[in-house]
Amino acid sequence: MKQSERLFFQQGQRCFFCDQQIPPSEISVEHLHPLSKGGSKEDENCVICCRTLNLILGDLSVKEKLRVILLQPTFRRGDRQEEDFLVG
Ligand SMILES: [Zn+2]
Repeated sequence: MKQSERLFFQQGQRCFFCDQQIPPSEISVEHLHPLSKGGSKEDENCVICCRTLNLILGDLSVKEKLRVILLQPTFRRGDRQEEDFLVG
């Protein structure tokens, strides 16, 4: 099993950041500490997230990523509406 698939199942098939369910075809691996900045490819540095967030976060540092995430009210867990679970 590939690392991306393993992490995907470990995370309950949800995006690490926005907690939305992701279809297996849409998963992307996000390196919390970017490879371009010396981050590792080990599991503890990798999370699965949706492509949208992967594009936004890109090569930002961990610090910058946290700021982006914390500033997005819609990404906060518990704020989702019922239909979000269905649309996913
Ligand atoms: Zn997401």
